[in-house]
Amino acid sequence: MAEPVKLEDLKTCPKCGESNPKDARHCSHCGASLANVTPGPAKVEVKRAKLIERLRKKA
Ligand SMILES: [Zn+2]
Repeated sequence: MAEPVKLEDLKTCPKCGESNPKDARHCSHCGASLANVTPGPAKVEVKRAKLIERLRKKA
């Protein structure tokens, strides 16, 4: 049985919000650099970032 993936073991992409392995260097979804991303839950920050991005696109 595989071990469950912990949020603490994931890097959340600052660009698209995709969850990546903590040792990932680039986002598997958009290819953004994850070098400066700290593993751990960051859903609130991602939600805010996405909202800001959406508002910027509209403006
Ligand atoms: Zn990404």
